[in-house]
Amino acid sequence: MKHILIILSMALLFVACKGKKETSDDFKYQIDKFADIKILRYKVPGFENLSLKQKKLIYYLSEAALSGWDITWDQNFKHNLVIRKTLEEIYKNYEGDRNSENFQKFLIYLKRVWFSAGIHHHYSNDKFLPDFSQEYFTELINNSPKANFPDCFKTKEELINTLKPILFDASIASKKVYQSTDKDMVLSSAGNFYENVNQHEVDEYYKKLTDTTDKNPISYGLNSKVVKEKGKIVEKVWKLNGMYGTAIEKIIFWLSKAKDVAENDLQKQTIEKLIEYYKTGDLKLFDEYNILWVQDTASIVDFVNGFIEVYDDPLARKAMWESIVNFKNIEATRRTEILSANAKWFEENSPVDNKFKKKDVKGVSAKVITAAILGGDLYPSTAIGINLPNADWIRKEHGSKSVTIENITYSYDQAALRSGFLEEFAYSKKEIERARKYGFISGNLHTDLHECLGHGSGQMLPGIKAEDLKNYHSTIEEARADLFALYYIMDKKMVELGLLPSLEAAKAEYDGFFRNGLFTQLVRIEPGKDVEEAHMRNRQLIAKWCYEKGKDDNVIEFKKKNGKTYVVINDYNKLRTLIGDLLKEIQRIKSEGDYETAKTLVENYGVKVDQNLHKEALERYTKLNLAPYSGFVNPVYTPVYKDGEIIDVKIEYPDDYIKQMLYYSEKYSFLPFYN
Ligand code: ZN
Repeated sequence: MKHILIILSMALLFVACKGKKETSDDFKYQIDKFADIKILRYKVPGFENLSLKQKKLIYYLSEAALSGWDITWDQNFKHNLVIRKTLEEIYKNYEGDRNSENFQKFLIYLKRVWFSAGIHHHYSNDKFLPDFSQEYFTELINNSPKANFPDCFKTKEELINTLKPILFDASIASKKVYQSTDKDMVLSSAGNFYENVNQHEVDEYYKKLTDTTDKNPISYGLNSKVVKEKGKIVEKVWKLNGMYGTAIEKIIFWLSKAKDVAENDLQKQTIEKLIEYYKTGDLKLFDEYNILWVQDTASIVDFVNGFIEVYDDPLARKAMWESIVNFKNIEATRRTEILSANAKWFEENSPVDNKFKKKDVKGVSAKVITAAILGGDLYPSTAIGINLPNADWIRKEHGSKSVTIENITYSYDQAALRSGFLEEFAYSKKEIERARKYGFISGNLHTDLHECLGHGSGQMLPGIKAEDLKNYHSTIEEARADLFALYYIMDKKMVELGLLPSLEAAKAEYDGFFRNGLFTQLVRIEPGKDVEEAHMRNRQLIAKWCYEKGKDDNVIEFKKKNGKTYVVINDYNKLRTLIGDLLKEIQRIKSEGDYETAKTLVENYGVKVDQNLHKEALERYTKLNLAPYSGFVNPVYTPVYKDGEIIDVKIEYPDDYIKQMLYYSEKYSFLPFYN
């Protein structure tokens, strides 16, 4: 599970207020801004102090992370690789007026496509259309005589005629992930996980395949595309010599080098197992790899590399490829180690029904990390925390690893320090001061609680599977982890353990969370649209439910001042009780696989938007002239050779978004246009 408190919610809200220090350092964090996006950089403090062996390990793993570049694009939509190549060739070769308004519009479109790894918005999943005409698109292609357009088309006309409807017709492939049950979700989603099959056929296919008596089931369908060929349903597996084989070959190449400089034997075995899995596509090996990986808590350098998260499949089966390479931030890790050491206490004292509690909480390893490279579905838009592996039985029997990526949150912080967001949406001076003083600590602690304890807590009744909640699973799961965090951050145990200076700091977290869930996160939604993304649904679900249930006691209130609306919490203790009540219910829903109640809760509280509030949020937000989404360019690692041996690895922080994208496409395009 990835934790994307990110972008607005964290990035602007919490982040706007984290009180690290008012002074920002000299490093230029924000380097570009277009449409609803800003591009940031992140520093990698401590890289220089690593050993040569660790630096080499990071270098090899980062090459493996970048080698999956094309996979994410193709998974998002089957035409994306052709589209990217076409747009990049235009950018490099267009001979018309490059200063014209039209060309600037083209450039913004290209930047957006890069950012989303395709033509669907990375967050809303809606297809976004070019802001220039079809005629201009034709002109761009025809006036780029030196361009090396995709060779799968015989003529420019064929290319133009193929791409025009895909890019310009709003009704074609309009949504990457379609998540309402009113239509066939497989047929209505543009993502490249299924072809020529409908939802019923896919469900039936996996029903037949799944051994329901298996206590340690593999993640059926995680690494394959399902297609119907000659009337027969088959899986095209993502592996060496299979689908995506040419990119996976490169990933294996770099992993093999990494294995030779592993920090210890367990890490070496882990990488070897991953290579075996990539060679065979055997999901049993993927489980074995995960078990090894979760046991390796000694290594300083660590990584994720594989088909991991299922958010982009409406059936929550198919995983996007992603990679992150990182190393341990030893000082900050102390915090999460305290939580982990007390995991049993938290489980026993939670408001959840005893039968849904883990009898034996083990191995919730947690650490704060420094990201060294982001790849695949984590680039350029990334999570700020990760909790893996995802298989429930592995988590139960072997534990999970949970990380908070602090150099990324710090970068958000620095970029948002002067945004003015907090001043606009917080009700009182006291709230603002509290946020500035405690926002950084309490925000980080929320993430830690969410990742280290929240996702790892609770247990399913026998026979219940995560998939039972279908399209509501992600929202319910995120709500569970957030509620766990919110419940405990207001516990005096936090002060006893030395994690918070006082419960005043916890109030800062409540202020930010409920302001966001009830109001400010709406700025990320287009007028007239519902809340779609799982984390956003979860936050609204929690906030609205508590607001409604606490109405009689005026626990949370919408206050007006100078014609502006504010969210104000009047009773923090009562609010905490409500949070506990909802946590209890949400855990029951997950443990029992209660689809109907999950649906009712999410649909009633998490989806619909108050039109007036939405309008006001957008108006006030627009005036601040901020971009709601952020992503990052990566640092560049360059090995220094002497007599054919690497003697050092240098790190640089480039500040040109376009250059990095073009460089990645040039260096890491390993797949054919159609896979
Ligand atoms: Zn989460």
